[in-house]
Amino acid sequence: MAALVALEEAQRLVLDRIRPLEAERVPVERAAGRVLAEAAESTTDLPPFPSSAMDGYAVRAAEAAVGASLPVVARIAAGAPTDRALAPGEAMGISTGGRVPEGADAVVPIELVEAQNGIVSIREAVEAGANVRGAGGDVHAGDTVLGAGRRLGAAQIGALAAAGVHEVQCRKRPRVGILVTGSELRQPGEALGPGEIYESNGLLLAAALADAGAVPAQLGVVPDDEDALRRTMERALLGFDMLVTSGGASVGPHDLVRKVQAGLRAEEVFWGVAVKPGKPVAFSMRRAHALFNLPGNPVSVLVTFEVFVRPAVNALLGVPDPLPAYRLGTLGAAVRRNDRRHEFLRAELRREDEKVVLEPLVGQESHMIARAATATALVSVEPGEGEIRAGEPVRYLTLD
Ligand code: AMP
Ligand code: MG
Repeated sequence: MAALVALEEAQRLVLDRIRPLEAERVPVERAAGRVLAEAAESTTDLPPFPSSAMDGYAVRAAEAAVGASLPVVARIAAGAPTDRALAPGEAMGISTGGRVPEGADAVVPIELVEAQNGIVSIREAVEAGANVRGAGGDVHAGDTVLGAGRRLGAAQIGALAAAGVHEVQCRKRPRVGILVTGSELRQPGEALGPGEIYESNGLLLAAALADAGAVPAQLGVVPDDEDALRRTMERALLGFDMLVTSGGASVGPHDLVRKVQAGLRAEEVFWGVAVKPGKPVAFSMRRAHALFNLPGNPVSVLVTFEVFVRPAVNALLGVPDPLPAYRLGTLGAAVRRNDRRHEFLRAELRREDEKVVLEPLVGQESHMIARAATATALVSVEPGEGEIRAGEPVRYLTLD
């Protein structure tokens, strides 16, 4: 392995090569989790008309002094407005969401009046504009509701619907092939033979890719055999936007993935990153297709997914900040820095008063996926000398 590439440099090399996928029209009811390729504009003023924020009486504020008595000339409900304007000296009953009539400039809440025999007496005055939601106060017709690159969560889907948008331009979801290699791998449910272990990376990657907004496809588990690998790889390079392999990318005699890829004219961008776990990770391009070769150890897969593959999926989706979003916390116990590699420690996140404290787990080896599965955070420990003491600030990524 040549000199290790620094983590940030490797991430830059990946993102430099990945362009967003094309856009497609998606109905808003199926757009949750998708990423906007174009800004979405409101079809209407929101609210579309001046609407009441309270159940009460629409009035002219100047006439609604304490003690004033006004005849109630109409009742307005949400969805049942009146065409008649409010004349001087009048009041109209109105419910929340009702259209405030022409001529009225305030709503006196029901709690601040006494109403009897069609007359409303004001107990507390209100100012002009009180309890009236102005037309377009949230967004105006034709204005941008959400810009390109926004991922659509619950609030965003709600906003698009409220703005009358029924279709949006989204990035296509990246189709990502998963190719697992290793002659020792059996599926859960099968019996283990001598020297065999259960295959975990394929399912781990499928879950992680779906979470990142991609469409994963299992290409199967291939033994450490050059011909079998080549056949599967040739097929894999056709139908997918990106390919992720696990295992067989290190320096052993059975590590054939990179050799097979080179034979298929993939251009290797890097192999070997100063990261722990995950050092033997490789990245190649074949035309516009990105290929990640992740190591076989499951925790290495977990970590290299978060620092390389998820950012690559984000870039295919056109997300403006594709790199991992670190947060700041406090280390719960001292850790020694690795002098060469950027280490990601599996940790349990705990809240202490206002602070987030990160407690590194016991069992940090890269095959220990059962232990890693109890972690709620990945603590980023940059390479260097000495140790980080308990109580010192550290950056972390959430794992939930
Ligand atoms: P490799 O990168 O192929 O040398 O594999 C490194 C280690 O990870 C070995 O102990 C493998 O048995 C293990 N490993 C490889 N692939 C998988 C997999 N899909 N699921 C679980 N463990 C694996
Ligand atoms: Mg292997």
